[in-house]
Amino acid sequence: MARVTGAIAELIAVHCGKCDIDFGMPRYFYETRKQDGVTWYCPVGHPRVFTGTSEIEKLREQLADARAATDAVDQQRRAAEARSQLLMNEQARLLTVPFSFTGVKT
Ligand SMILES: [Zn+2]
Repeated sequence: MARVTGAIAELIAVHCGKCDIDFGMPRYFYETRKQDGVTWYCPVGHPRVFTGTSEIEKLREQLADARAATDAVDQQRRAAEARSQLLMNEQARLLTVPFSFTGVKT
């Protein structure tokens, strides 16, 4: 008598480009191989690798883009602070220049 010992994992339909066999790959295995780029084997034994940008690579690229954007904003902030300091210095200098009425007709 057969008895249930567990559930069958969700399978992803995969095609081997070497032998043209279609087969089911457990989702967790499929997603892990897509992310880590490690070699896996079709049921006939052909070594296969998912090509293209993995999720980890995509996230690394997004992180690099976010860091570049943060650096650009930080650079703009520092430039704005420097301009602001120059203007405050100029304002302070102008306020300390003695005021003269020379040349003003009364
Ligand atoms: Zn194959």
